[in-house]
Amino acid sequence: MTRKCCLLALCLLTALFSTGCLFPDQLTEEPGAVWLVDGFDFPVGDRDGRGWAVTGYAFLDWSSYSNSYHPGEDWNIPGAGNGDQGETVYAVANGEVVFSGWNTAMGNVILIRHAISESAFIWSQYAHLDQRYVAKGDRIYRRQPIGTVGRGPNNAFAAHLHFELRKADLPANAWPRTNGIAWSRSKVADFWLNPSLFIKHNRPQ
Ligand SMILES: [Zn+2]
Repeated sequence: MTRKCCLLALCLLTALFSTGCLFPDQLTEEPGAVWLVDGFDFPVGDRDGRGWAVTGYAFLDWSSYSNSYHPGEDWNIPGAGNGDQGETVYAVANGEVVFSGWNTAMGNVILIRHAISESAFIWSQYAHLDQRYVAKGDRIYRRQPIGTVGRGPNNAFAAHLHFELRKADLPANAWPRTNGIAWSRSKVADFWLNPSLFIKHNRPQ
């Protein structure tokens, strides 16, 4: 190797060291590091939600069933009736399961916390499920199957996915009502996001 060549190789090595190219394992995640989202997909159908639609209560519709503003979206396969029971429900983004269980109002529920930065979180909630595939503490990835569409507690409803996106750390069974009195529409919007709108604006790159 000529002296000129050696110098060139040295320069190249220095450049690689300084950019970290020679140490790819330095780029892997440290244990306990925040598991950030890399965008959001729809919870049913394909990544774009195709084949499904919000044919039940939409976000902030007045629900005469619950006497309150509906804080999420009811997703169905249009015209399927109960035919969408057992269809796969997917995590909308990377996150950590903070609740997976059953309650009398919602049936089987999964609540996932998503880190959108090192210090900012939102929560996705999936309710009336038939099956639950994940448990509290599980770290899950976008598009991971987490359960199946069901009919709620004691088959109370026609099969559909009740889906919420929350800005606040609320209990899994939270509902925008206090002592039977519905919260105002604007108060609900302080705690919940419009799911379809948020997902459309935050798709993976
Ligand atoms: Zn609903």
